[in-house]
Order: sequence, then C-alpha cells, then structure tokens
Amino acid sequence: MTTDWTDGEPRIVVSACVDCGHRWYLRRDRCPRCAGAVTTTISAGRGAVVATTAGAQGAIALVDLAEGVRVLGRCDPALRPGVPAVLTFRAGTDDPVAVPYFEAEHS
Ligand SMILES: [Zn+2]
Repeated sequence: MTTDWTDGEPRIVVSACVDCGHRWYLRRDRCPRCAGAVTTTISAGRGAVVATTAGAQGAIALVDLAEGVRVLGRCDPALRPGVPAVLTFRAGTDDPVAVPYFEAEHS
C-alpha cells in the first residue's frame, strides 16, 4: 500500500475502487463495498470545511477533500465551516508522528 501520514509520510492517500468507483480514505487492500481492486492517489490537500469542534487537545475539523473523501484532522481554532481549507501536518506533544492539520486557505 502507498505510505501515508500514519507511516510518517506527510500526506493523505485517497483510495478508489477500479470496479465500482467508490472512494474512501482509510487504506484497505480491497474495496469495502465490492471487494474490487484498489488504486490510490495522493491528496492535493485542499478541501472544504464541513464542521469544527473544540476538543481537549485542540480544535478538530471535518473536511471534504477535493478528491471526494471526508477526513478528520486537527485544525486552526479560527477555522469555520464553509471555508476552503489547506492540509498541512504538525507534530503534537502526544503524537508520535505529524498529524493532519487544516488551516484556512490563503488566496
Ligand atoms: Zn468497489
């Protein structure tokens, strides 16, 4: 499988099914819908914020990536739903690897 941020590579990998076209975020060897073969692409890291919430360890965002999958990540506390977001990666004190972190896209 293509390495991603969980392997220490600062990127999100989007998987797509060759047979049914289904797309998803978490990596699997086969399509979760039809067990078809999988192709992967690396996300360009841009999307739209769906929701945000403040947690004990900081703000969390739910983001629809341009590649058609919805992902969770840490975010700038000022980030709001409906705005374009860009993906970066940041290490936290409790994180063994740099984790997805969304910021407002500056045009
Ligand atoms: Zn499929």
